[in-house]
Amino acid sequence: MPYAVSDEKLEEIKDLNDIVDVLGEFIELKRAGTNYKALCPFHNEKTPSFVVSPDKQIYHCFGCGEGGDVFSFLMKYNNYTFMEAVEYLADKVGIKLEQVSEKNSEKKELLYKINREAAIYFYGNLKKSKESINYLRRRGIDSKSIKKFGIGYALDSWNGLLDHLKSKNYKDKDIADTGLVIERNKSEGYYDRFRNRIIFPIINTKKQVIGFGGRVLDDSLPKYLNSPDSEIFSKGKYLYNLNNSIKNKETNYIILTEGYMDVIKLSINGYNNTVASLGTALTKHQIRLLKKYYDVFYIAYDSDESGKKAAIKALNLFKNQNLEAKVIVFPNNMDPDDYISKYGKSKFRERLNENLDYFEFLHSYYSSKYDINTNKGKVKYIEEFFGNINNVSNSIERELIIEKISEKTQISKENLLKEFSKKYLNKKKFKSDFKKKKKEVKGINIENYFTTLAEKVSKNEELYEYTVNKYSETFKKIFGNNFFEDYNFKLTKDYSFENSLSTDEIDFMVNKILIKYQEKQLSELRHKLNNNPNNEEILTEISKIYKEIKILRQGGIN
Ligand SMILES: [Zn+2]
Repeated sequence: MPYAVSDEKLEEIKDLNDIVDVLGEFIELKRAGTNYKALCPFHNEKTPSFVVSPDKQIYHCFGCGEGGDVFSFLMKYNNYTFMEAVEYLADKVGIKLEQVSEKNSEKKELLYKINREAAIYFYGNLKKSKESINYLRRRGIDSKSIKKFGIGYALDSWNGLLDHLKSKNYKDKDIADTGLVIERNKSEGYYDRFRNRIIFPIINTKKQVIGFGGRVLDDSLPKYLNSPDSEIFSKGKYLYNLNNSIKNKETNYIILTEGYMDVIKLSINGYNNTVASLGTALTKHQIRLLKKYYDVFYIAYDSDESGKKAAIKALNLFKNQNLEAKVIVFPNNMDPDDYISKYGKSKFRERLNENLDYFEFLHSYYSSKYDINTNKGKVKYIEEFFGNINNVSNSIERELIIEKISEKTQISKENLLKEFSKKYLNKKKFKSDFKKKKKEVKGINIENYFTTLAEKVSKNEELYEYTVNKYSETFKKIFGNNFFEDYNFKLTKDYSFENSLSTDEIDFMVNKILIKYQEKQLSELRHKLNNNPNNEEILTEISKIYKEIKILRQGGIN
């Protein structure tokens, strides 16, 4: 067996692969209330009795009794082994599988235990600290919420937590691996990361404490401090309070905020379905995670300049995944906590109902920034808009937005469309061509990988040279001699995009492409084998490719 995958990894792979998306690639699903229906792929039928539940993330056929989750579907439908199903789904959402030993999962268990002990300790401290209790009271946080969120306090001490955990027989090194303590220079022991701070434990959907956030009680800086990423904590992959939100799921919408206090104050006012990103910008991972549980997404960020910019980024990230998010706007640079504390929940409800959609929010932002009654302002406004709607993959929707821009600027829609396509559309068309190709080979999307690679390296001379020198021959073999032209594989010197790719990552991507390529060969051979079950040549070829795939999966290239 090439990999041993930990339970957490499996959980993560399952979390990020929505059952509707996965099954939808293979069978045609039709919405039926909160579920989806389809003709069962496992028995012959004329009326659909195959039901997929996005809430429970399972499928079940009332005709033949087949049922299960994403893994079992792939095993049954594609004849995958369990590990093949895991690999396929991990690959789809960009999770890298690594060899995980028994020892590794024991270590994680230990880190969870240390975090749990720390959370209990912080919680106990809070009860003894009048100053912190008063601080929370002043901010409108009652004892019920302190309990619900497990809010605690880190003493104003360099070793309060460290000594406590050591008295429970935990080792320095293990405590340091949670990020709760930091090693001193010249290895002279350790000290507490969180000192004199209100502590918010971050708990995952399995009720494990994965990290902490800490806030100062005064105006000192940094205002917030989070646990660093560790073996059990990754900021971009989880959201604060998702555990409570899905436990008492009352609505199909979720409110996204920027801070712990926003979440807690909204929850006190009856909005349990609120989460916060953990001190980083929203990520694709987080959106995929939310999409599993919710249909409607409200972005309730701070209304200052940086909050607005973050909201635009988030809107585009949702759009990228074909989802529509809406923005709740607050006056006078307020954040959700400020607003609901000052005006109460019914006023907050009004703000929520008056949410702005994608176009409305971008318009309100850019028209306040540029005077669209002047020519110069119009040009800037349009440019900014174009940069954003490049994220809208649906061309009809894009045209509708351009129509609205035309109304606002009094520039004809035709001219706007011409300008937009001149700047962006070639790239888009080239993307959609690949989508078509991708469909031809169901579930095997080599071209997609290759497009991504081509796009990334084409913006950086060094990476481009590296890739062409090292892999031209490989690409010719897979994509034909004309791959430069066919795939627009040329240096564009478009430096307006950030490019943080390393050569290691290029090697990794090429490795993926080669694996996909070999898998495609394999599936073609399997087809052939169906018609000639005993053909020795095909069998030999298959076993050869199996070996090659195995080498590739271990990181080899050719
Ligand atoms: Zn069936």
